[in-house]
Amino acid sequence: MINFEESALNFLRQNIRDIPDFPKPGIIFKDITPLLKNPDTLNLTSRLLAKPFLNKNVDLIVGLESRGFLFGTTLAMDLHAGFVPIRKPNKLPGETVSATYQLEYGTDSVEIHADSIIKGNRVVIHDDLIATGGTASAATKLVEKLGGEVIGYSFILELTFLGGMKNLKEGALINTLLKY
Ligand code: AMP
Repeated sequence: MINFEESALNFLRQNIRDIPDFPKPGIIFKDITPLLKNPDTLNLTSRLLAKPFLNKNVDLIVGLESRGFLFGTTLAMDLHAGFVPIRKPNKLPGETVSATYQLEYGTDSVEIHADSIIKGNRVVIHDDLIATGGTASAATKLVEKLGGEVIGYSFILELTFLGGMKNLKEGALINTLLKY
């Protein structure tokens, strides 16, 4: 028998669109804009993202640029937490701290406002998708640099064949809705 949660996740899966060869040849881009457009999947996605973190005393959701801002904000509201953005270099107006991470060829970096986290804050890192885990791992470093505690990670999608989970903090609660 299919339970409610399984059919809900199947419904979400039907609202993810594969765009081949975007942004470059060989990449299958997982497009979540249909999830946002449909009011039922918009609501269901935010409910399912929040569920495992209810009653976990989350202070802040840290959302990763830019698709992590979309459901990161609804997640923060559902958990009665605040929201803090992590952005690409030179986008945040205030004083920042940054972390650099490895790409297949070269490096990339991300930044957070230096005053955005108070020591001891309980933080959940959110993005739309985890691939290699490089971005989430750099985000973990930034949160910890500012004295925050990463208690969890939240993703709508995981590309399991890229093994990103091994780059996340051990012992943290990980919620991924759909695995590919
Ligand atoms: P990574 O740091 O390798 O885990 O990459 C994660 C980031 O890249 C996220 O912000 C995703 O939105 C984006 N990303 C990577 N691969 C894809 C993909 N196939 N479809 C959509 N977004 C992707």
